Amino acid sequence: MRTVALPGGETVPALGQGTWNMGENRGEIRREADALRLGIDLGMSLIDTAEMYANGGAETVVAEASAGQRDKLFIVSKVLPSNASRSGVPAACERSLKRLKTDRIDLYLLHWQGGHPLAETVAAFEALRAAGKIRYWGVSNLDTADMTELLEVAGGQACAADQVLYHPDSRGIEFDLLPWCASHGIPIMAYSPLGHHVRRLLGSPALRAVARRHRVTPAQVAIAWGLRHPMVISIPKAADVAHVRENAAAATLELTPADLAEIDAAHQPPGRKQALDLL
Ligand code: NDP
Repeated sequence: MRTVALPGGETVPALGQGTWNMGENRGEIRREADALRLGIDLGMSLIDTAEMYANGGAETVVAEASAGQRDKLFIVSKVLPSNASRSGVPAACERSLKRLKTDRIDLYLLHWQGGHPLAETVAAFEALRAAGKIRYWGVSNLDTADMTELLEVAGGQACAADQVLYHPDSRGIEFDLLPWCASHGIPIMAYSPLGHHVRRLLGSPALRAVARRHRVTPAQVAIAWGLRHPMVISIPKAADVAHVRENAAAATLELTPADLAEIDAAHQPPGRKQALDLL
């Protein structure tokens, strides 16, 4: 599995697994945890979750999948903006740790920016880091101007990732946020790499043509497309084991310049600044 370096040098798998929509239905939890476990066995040992997903239910699925193998995993979770105060962050973190059945979160993200000042959230993150409850912290859904502001607050330079929407139909970050993060050594975690509502993106004639040439699926092309950038970590979500196998295999798919040009023609790169796309 290719890796991406966090600021500080530790490496994480470039391809991980998302968990949004997992844990919603009790009857599905075992199947979802099995899918995550298969993904871990196939090298996708970075798992992205959040207190928001199924009101903590997704973290419970992650706990089930990580039983007996916690040390192999790099667990990412997120605090809601409404909890991102100096006292709210440690309380939310404790609740997540309990649901995750672990003593530490590897990377703890601010899910999106809300009413609490970034300086307060960062101070709370840094205190959690000092206490060993989290190993790194980062943000999600922050655009370039917000990132610039973040790096100016006390402790802000320790930001280890920005998790944002990134797939062939949503590539505005290539204009400024992606190069900005890369120049600061901050990885981008690409969320919804399959477009979330997959039918539209995976029906793309360009992705399908590239897939046919490589004898792979359009989903694999979409994942490999995101991973072509050395600072991008991709976190597709799959509860179906066939999807998990397919996604894991995409880590070794190399797209050619001709493939990328064909995708560019149909899913154009940004020619100017675009507001950050959110889901
Ligand atoms: P994705 O783009 O990962 O798409 C998920 C959908 O794709 C599911 O319906 C899944 O089906 C399907 N799928 C997975 N693999 C394949 C495949 N090989 N072929 C066809 N279909 C496939 O969307 P998400 O929005 O879930 O994004 C991924 C993760 O990113 C989330 O789960 C979450 O962890 C994170 N995220 C973060 C956000 C943020 O604000 N920070 C916002 C959105 C997402 P099935 O499950 O049945 O296998």
